[in-house]
Amino acid sequence: MAEIKNAVIFNESQKQLIFDVTSDPTFKHSDWNKEALSKDLSELRSFIRKHYREEQAGKCAYCRKDVSLVSALNCHVEHIVPKSLHDKYMFLPKNLCVVCADCNQIKKDKETLTLNQKGQTRSRYPAVSSGFHIVHPHFDNYEEHIDINRECWYIDKTLKGHFTIGVCKLNQRCGDYGIDEPNEMVQLAIELESAIANDNSLTVKLLKDKMRKLLDI
Ligand SMILES: [Zn+2]
Repeated sequence: MAEIKNAVIFNESQKQLIFDVTSDPTFKHSDWNKEALSKDLSELRSFIRKHYREEQAGKCAYCRKDVSLVSALNCHVEHIVPKSLHDKYMFLPKNLCVVCADCNQIKKDKETLTLNQKGQTRSRYPAVSSGFHIVHPHFDNYEEHIDINRECWYIDKTLKGHFTIGVCKLNQRCGDYGIDEPNEMVQLAIELESAIANDNSLTVKLLKDKMRKLLDI
């Protein structure tokens, strides 16, 4: 089941604001974050953030780590299809969710829409999972696409999982520990789990030594 079950619903005054903003020829997608531009727009962003933060149980849609529960700093309103490439989806409820600051900064403007069957850019927002390269919180069950190991190592199960890990650099962030090759660590972690399950103490020791060496501890 998809992570987000209920897309945000705007009231009449919010719909009017969205209409006014999107009808203004001078409004640009980059104005989304400008606090000074409009108090109402800022309040609308807070409303969206609060809705998806609750809907996603305080987890980032892409890395599944915690987003901040009060501050907006580590809980960004995310445009799953980037607003810089497709500004017509800027306020579309199904194109919105919340993500952590790292995913927001790293994913940026990467195209997430797939081409249609004729190999053309889609003219409407897809209503199905296959319309997107990325694991989409409104359409996809995260666990079907990505396994998270030890809260750090991400292993793809599908092409979507592969795309999402790549576009958000999920494994590369573990490079903070000084690891050059995340895949080697993932492989060792899997082998270690198997060795522990088989009670093979010699292999467990060898694998742990290798992991410690990789982690430089
Ligand atoms: Zn994240």
